Amino acid sequence: MVATTGTVAPDLDRTTRPRALIDPFQRAITYLRVSVTDRCDFRCVYCMSEHMSFLPKADLLSLEELDRLCSAFISRGVRKLRLTGGEPLVRRGIMALVASLSRHLESGALSELTLTTNGSQLQKYADELKAYGVERINVSLDTLDPDKFRSITRWGELGNVLTGIDAAQAVGLQVKINAVALKGVNEDEIGDLLAWAHGRGMDLTVIEVMPLGDIDQSRLDQYIPLSLVRARLVRRYTLEEIDYRTGGPARYVRVKETGGRLGFITPMTHNFCESCNRVRVTCTGTLYMCLGQNDAADLRAPLRASARDDLLQGAIDEAISRKPKGHDFLIDRRHNRPALARHMSMTGG
Ligand code: SAM
Repeated sequence: MVATTGTVAPDLDRTTRPRALIDPFQRAITYLRVSVTDRCDFRCVYCMSEHMSFLPKADLLSLEELDRLCSAFISRGVRKLRLTGGEPLVRRGIMALVASLSRHLESGALSELTLTTNGSQLQKYADELKAYGVERINVSLDTLDPDKFRSITRWGELGNVLTGIDAAQAVGLQVKINAVALKGVNEDEIGDLLAWAHGRGMDLTVIEVMPLGDIDQSRLDQYIPLSLVRARLVRRYTLEEIDYRTGGPARYVRVKETGGRLGFITPMTHNFCESCNRVRVTCTGTLYMCLGQNDAADLRAPLRASARDDLLQGAIDEAISRKPKGHDFLIDRRHNRPALARHMSMTGG
């Protein structure tokens, strides 16, 4: 178990500040995504450049600090917690954090503890994740072609990921596959990916590539709107509108032929900000109120300044009062600059 110091004082919170985190647009913040490391064992071409420099370990929040931070949010009404990265399963000792956070599932304060992973370490950790109360996980997988997989991830082995998915399903974890649609790379493969995922009882979500961080190629070479992916899919499948929501940004359809669900995440072509219930914390304790904006709040300083949570809670309140209405990602065609300098691996997907 991660030893927790200075845990939240719920009684104090109850008397001095409202429990729920409500932003200026009356949206309740009930979903926290926490990047537990900026490091990854893959170098996906749309996510990172090949030669990334990572943060010094001393800058990272310790597992105890991550636990305290998550717990502070949970005490304010966050019901869903997603661990991400970088690759969350390469953070040393990560299972101690999962084990410790699972107390919030047991108490009922948290309704879901989940993670987004590239799947490379799942064979090792699937058992423990399940034992600590994780029910569903997202696995990022853009292709089933081993060569293409290697060229997208630069360092990844498709076989490891598939073995990891097998292990996760074997222990009863519900797996959702997330695929980023990449122009000229996997756009013609989404139908096959769908058939494979649904054939194994897994939902599939396709995602538009976002201009986050400098990579080694132009974003325009990668970007394809999901309207085109969808147009291609409807030649092969019947897509039926459904009301299903998971609390995230995906909009789902049911695929009549397979009975499975297909999600679309369209940050570029459709803004889904009106129902945003999410904020993100990086592994250094920086809170981003919107994935698509630069405004952020430092939570590490108030966390470290006091063993009580007053300063931290004050900083969270102040940050949520600045949550913007939404984002507009633009790919800068003239200068080929990213919309935002930080990589997705920093803020977490
Ligand atoms: N390593 C884990 C994984 O692979 O799922 C978690 C972190 S990764 C940054 C989270 C998700 O973000 C992955 O599905 C990845 O494909 C996606 N992603 C990374 N960069 C992206 C970008 N520029 N646009 C859209 N999705 C991106």
